[in-house]
Amino acid sequence: MQTVHHQNWCGHVPYGAARFHQPASVAEVQAIIRAADKVRVIGARHCFNDIADTTGDLIWLGNLDNSVVIDPERRTATVNAGITYRELCPQLHRAGYALPNLASLDHITVIGACMSATHGSGDGLGNLATVVSALEMVTANGDLVSLSREQDGDTFDGAVVALGALGVVTKVTLDLQPTFYLQQEVYEELPMSEIFARFDEIMSAGYSVSLFPTWQHDCCDTVWVKRRVEGDASVPAPPDFYRAALSAGRSPSDEFSDRDWTHHGLPGPWHERLPHFVFKDAFAVGNELQSEYFVPRRCAVDAMRAVAQLSDGLAPILGVSEIRTVAADQLWLSPSYGQEIVGIHFNWHKNWEAVEKFLPELEAALAPFVPRPHWGKLFGIAPADVRAAYPRMADFQELARTLDPQGKFRNRYVERYVFGLPV
Ligand SMILES: Cc1cc2nc3c(=O)[nH]c(=O)nc-3n(C[C@H](O)[C@H](O)[C@H](O)COP(=O)(O)OP(=O)(O)OC[C@H]3O[C@@H](n4cnc5c(N)ncnc54)[C@H](O)[C@@H]3O)c2cc1C
Repeated sequence: MQTVHHQNWCGHVPYGAARFHQPASVAEVQAIIRAADKVRVIGARHCFNDIADTTGDLIWLGNLDNSVVIDPERRTATVNAGITYRELCPQLHRAGYALPNLASLDHITVIGACMSATHGSGDGLGNLATVVSALEMVTANGDLVSLSREQDGDTFDGAVVALGALGVVTKVTLDLQPTFYLQQEVYEELPMSEIFARFDEIMSAGYSVSLFPTWQHDCCDTVWVKRRVEGDASVPAPPDFYRAALSAGRSPSDEFSDRDWTHHGLPGPWHERLPHFVFKDAFAVGNELQSEYFVPRRCAVDAMRAVAQLSDGLAPILGVSEIRTVAADQLWLSPSYGQEIVGIHFNWHKNWEAVEKFLPELEAALAPFVPRPHWGKLFGIAPADVRAAYPRMADFQELARTLDPQGKFRNRYVERYVFGLPV
């Protein structure tokens, strides 16, 4: 079990930590932090870059008490920050509650997802961090600090998407809503001309809509549409969707034989339909790399046109792309800070040499749209440009200096992208 934690999920980043801890209590977390010079936490290790790495002490919170405390009056759940959505969501559903959105898989931890602004798709749906209403974290001197949306306003907005740079979050409180059901359908060969002409209409045609182009044809290969339904009675699906045909349920890419896809054509509770897939072997080393760039929603069509021009370069290295929409929020380091965004995601074959060579061309094509890269995926955009894309970056630097004056939680990634140091 320990060795599996010494690299990220896809094995692309070996962790350089000198020590690895699996504390079973918050007091143990505090003791580790007090004794450490450099410290980071890992969640499910699903980031593709060195965001979680450290040379010092690496902590995993999976052994903390995972009980879920629901407050029906405030309609919130308070949980160990290191709980995975897979452990959490069925419990919420059984109690009659739901989260508004999830990522494409549920193996990731709640706090790992929030720290990198992980998102799903859906008009009006914010990224996963936007439902955090309070958190508890152990700061650099070992103190336990509580922050909440209600009490700490603007500072709280700086602390939820924080790249692990402020402290070790041990508890989070999440806003809940009543549980709900979704039915998802897959459509094939949606003409790109329809997408370019009716992007807003298409992306709002379901609770959550994802487009999966490979950029190799003048159509988008598959489209997943998740619609809200009343209860678990199946609803007849429209046979076509903007000239795309209803499919029996093809996966977005034929190459993913390592995962099971969530059901098509059958209603199910939110947590069994919002993720696209589950891995057959959750502990196997992943066989892909990922990048994702967020552009303002108003630029989505132009940005997609720019990517489509690169189809020759993409063909040998790309499995599939995914296009998703995310609502605007006020979290300082969220890519959707202050603007509705569209994520253009790339599922690469696991060939870093080829991907790394191609990224500058892709990023040059997207540069006119001032893309914000996904914090947890692979990108080559210059650190100064990343910082410049975040209007509250200086405030975040200040907050990090206040909570962590010695830089205990700074790793090479944080030095590079937050503080601009040449590492
Ligand atoms: C197959 C696959 C599918 C994916 N699908 C999506 C998707 O649909 N949407 C999307 O946006 N992303 C997606 N991602 C990216 C990924 O889920 C996110 O980047 C997420 O951050 C990973 O969460 P984790 O639990 O693995 O955290 P980790 O990668 O382990 O850590 C992420 C960050 O959180 C910090 N952290 C962890 N725990 C704590 C803590 N207790 N206190 C403070 N900081 C902490 C870490 O130090 C690190 O900086 C996918 C990744 C994979 C491998």
